[in-house]
Amino acid sequence: MTDAIVEITRCEEFSAAHRLHDPRLSDEDNRRLYGPCNTDHGHNYILEVTVRGPVPASGMVMDLNVLMRILREKVLVEVDHKHMNRDVPFLQGVIPTAENVAVAFWKRIEPELRPYAGCSLRRVRIWESRGNYVEYYGERA
Ligand SMILES: [Zn+2]
Repeated sequence: MTDAIVEITRCEEFSAAHRLHDPRLSDEDNRRLYGPCNTDHGHNYILEVTVRGPVPASGMVMDLNVLMRILREKVLVEVDHKHMNRDVPFLQGVIPTAENVAVAFWKRIEPELRPYAGCSLRRVRIWESRGNYVEYYGERA
């Protein structure tokens, strides 16, 4: 037992298709705004979820297998090998940029952590490609 606060991270991969398209804009404006991402295409995503908390007598902030199961049941089974614009109920009405997907994943994951004393969701990071990732910390403007 220490008074240390530690962050633990689980990484998962999933593959999904999407199209960046804002139905409020014309087709021409969508092409200008989103370029090639305005057409259907896919990514091999990496999801990294970080949980922060004290280190109790067990020595574990949280069982990483439990975190893995939450990610698989609440997020991955819904999005893996799916088209995010049309196949994923919790993304309906969302333009599936990595930013918006990160926020939507946060909303799915965060309530699942409430039963785990002292633990809180710290960060959702999504790698959309080798060069690009986004991070969400639960903040609102
Ligand atoms: Zn894309």
